[in-house]
Amino acid sequence: MGHNPKSSPPPECLAEEKQKKSGDYKCGDVLERLKEDFRNKCYLCESKAPNTINVEHFIPHRGDTDLKFDWANLFLSCGHCNNTKLAKPEYDHILNCTDPEHDVENRIRYEIKPFPKEKAHITALDEAAEVRNTVFLLEAVYNGTTPLKSIESENIRKNLLDEIIRFQKLLYEFYHCTGQKIT
Ligand SMILES: [Zn+2]
Repeated sequence: MGHNPKSSPPPECLAEEKQKKSGDYKCGDVLERLKEDFRNKCYLCESKAPNTINVEHFIPHRGDTDLKFDWANLFLSCGHCNNTKLAKPEYDHILNCTDPEHDVENRIRYEIKPFPKEKAHITALDEAAEVRNTVFLLEAVYNGTTPLKSIESENIRKNLLDEIIRFQKLLYEFYHCTGQKIT
């Protein structure tokens, strides 16, 4: 959930679709723009190139056409996270990673120990309600809320660990300048 500002201006088709009776917010270049803005990562679990992609309404539109077609309200998420968040009212108020003022990186701490089966620990660094809600949602995303989702969460954590370990190896090689690859 690093800081990812949204590109502007909004895709032109959104204003047109908004006028239609059953307009589509996934119109024109919306998907490509989201993919670029979110660097092809789910904004919640940060899985890269997720197998399932959903366009999520950061604040659920619940039939409100302004929210439904508002470019600032469209986020890229994976199926797992979209499904975990659903439209639970408490998740209407979470930290917004596209807004620099929310300062997401300094308000929550992630901890995943680099061992298989270790759960993720997310900690709130201040008392604000949106920080608490975000922590609650991320705990659900990374650890699962049902037996099925727990398996999905385990896969997400494994992929993250793979990435961390790859990164650690590169750092090790870089700082030791051995010229030898660690396999
Ligand atoms: Zn996700």
